[in-house]
Amino acid sequence: MNTLKGTLPQEETSTAMVFDIQRFSLHDGPGVRTTVFFKGCPLRCLWCQNPESWKRPAEMAFYEQRCERCFACEPACPKDAIVRDAKHRIDFSRCDACGDCAAACMNEALRTIGKPWLLTTLFEEIVRDKDFFLDSGGGVTLSGGEPFLYPDFTLSLCAMLRQAGIHTLAETCGWFDSRLCELIAGSLDAVFFDIKHASASAHKTLTGKDNGLIIKNFMALCELMKDIQPRMPIVPGCNDDEENIRATATILRKAGKQSIHCLPYHSLGNDKLMRIQSSQAPAAIQPPTPTELERVKTIFKEEGIHAVLYS
Ligand code: SF4
Ligand code: SF4
Repeated sequence: MNTLKGTLPQEETSTAMVFDIQRFSLHDGPGVRTTVFFKGCPLRCLWCQNPESWKRPAEMAFYEQRCERCFACEPACPKDAIVRDAKHRIDFSRCDACGDCAAACMNEALRTIGKPWLLTTLFEEIVRDKDFFLDSGGGVTLSGGEPFLYPDFTLSLCAMLRQAGIHTLAETCGWFDSRLCELIAGSLDAVFFDIKHASASAHKTLTGKDNGLIIKNFMALCELMKDIQPRMPIVPGCNDDEENIRATATILRKAGKQSIHCLPYHSLGNDKLMRIQSSQAPAAIQPPTPTELERVKTIFKEEGIHAVLYS
């Protein structure tokens, strides 16, 4: 698969950073699926559920409640980076995320998030569940983070999976090089595409990037692909106001879409944020109530859009 070769550093075409692989997933597309979570994301959503996906390199997480202060991690560190009373037990200015401390910790209080996967190794890991995919109408979901931060890798993987008869789906934030749209449409069976806010300025405030490129890519992919499903996180006080719901519906109608999947915000990301090195404060947001979700659904309905509410 020759996508953007020559424009990417070589290592990005042969390996990708992955921070989790979930087998037998039932919530990331049709049937039984393996979901691969790529590490690295161009956005910084205030409500992010997976902040450990933001940075591309491997990083360390500290689970304070698991720590028994035995300090077996201390002599294991080749960088002398364990600091007994540091917030995350680590001086990050010295740490290179080698993971030796995590290997020494019997309580799994320190963990390495992210490791590089070779294309062929990841394919072999996925394909061993092929029978489950075929029996259930399932397949593989590429998630993250942002899978198209590794375009050559992900599109090559999809080509190999397709050749093996395995259904492929990507969940994307939409912020990727527009030259990829045709390649995505030609390589994947389906896409879940996030529309987080209809206003460019609000999108920038809430996620760190405006939505110009995202809407452009959404429109292009809707022209090129049949199976593209828009999704929207419902985040109280951020994007659930009537004006934004109606403006989002207008974007969907222009793209020829008649439905949207609405995913209510939950606060699990805050715990994850506390375990890693990050300057972003945990979000002070309450999950939407069933009544609030029904209000969103009703406004979409008035605009001719069927909103599917997730729990
Ligand atoms: S080895 Fe693990 S449990 Fe012991 S002090 Fe280090 S992080 Fe805590
Ligand atoms: S990941 Fe490696 S460098 Fe960082 S604290 Fe642990 S042992 Fe030290």
